[in-house]
Amino acid sequence: MEVAANLEEINHKIERACIKSNRLVEDITLIGVTKYVTIERTKEAIQAGICNLGENRLEGFQEKYDSLQETDVKWHFIGTLQSRKVKEVIHQVDVIHSLDRLSLAKEINKRAEKTIDCFVQVNVSKEESKHGIMPEEVLTFIGKLRDFSRIRVVGLMTMAPHIEDKEALRQVFKRLASLRKEVQEKGYDSAPCAYLSMGMSNDFELAIEEGATHIRIGTKLVG
Ligand SMILES: *Cc1c(COP(=O)(O)O)cnc(C)c1O
Repeated sequence: MEVAANLEEINHKIERACIKSNRLVEDITLIGVTKYVTIERTKEAIQAGICNLGENRLEGFQEKYDSLQETDVKWHFIGTLQSRKVKEVIHQVDVIHSLDRLSLAKEINKRAEKTIDCFVQVNVSKEESKHGIMPEEVLTFIGKLRDFSRIRVVGLMTMAPHIEDKEALRQVFKRLASLRKEVQEKGYDSAPCAYLSMGMSNDFELAIEEGATHIRIGTKLVG
C-alpha cells in the first residue's frame, strides 16, 4: 500500500477516536516510525505529509538523518539509548522518548548544548522485557531529574503489551495519564509533562481515547 493511502486511513481513525473522546485532532502528533523501512519509503512518508519521524536504533537513525537533512523533519528517538552513544545523536534529535535512567540523564545533560525535550519511559505493564521506570518510581525519578538543567520532561511514554484485551490496554493508558497528572501537580519548571506518548499500530485509537498526544505508528503506516 502507498503510504498516502495508509495515512488517509490512519487520519480517519484518529479523527473518529477524537470525536468519540471529545478531543481535537490538532492535539495529536503522529510520529511515523520508519525503523523497518528504507530511505525511499521514508521519503514517501514525508511526501505524504509526515513531518515527525521516529527511529529506535542509532544506526537507523543516523542513516535516515544523514539522507534526509534537507527535509524539515522533527526527529524522535524512541528506542533504548545507551549512555555511551548519547554524544552521537544528541545534536540531531529533537525529542527523546526513552529516558529511563539517571545515568542516561546525566550523560544527556553533559553532552547537550541546549535544553533537550524528553519523555520519561514508564514500564506500566511491568513486563520484564520492557524498559522504563516502574510506575511507583516515576515521581521520585522526575524529582531527581531537576538536577539536570538541560533536561525538560515534556511528557511520559509507554509501550503497551501485545495483547488483544482492550480493557487491559485501556488500564495501561489510564495509568500513564494518571501519572502525568501527578507529575503536573508537582509544578516543577523542568517537568511541564504536558504530553503522553502512547499508542502504536494496534492500539492507537484506544490510546487517543485515553489521552495520548503523541502516537508512534510504524507497521500500519509504512510497513
Ligand atoms: C516499533 C515501535 C513503534 C511502532 O510499532 P508498530 O506496531 O509498528 O506501529 C512504536 N514505538 C516504539 C518504541 C517502537 O519501538
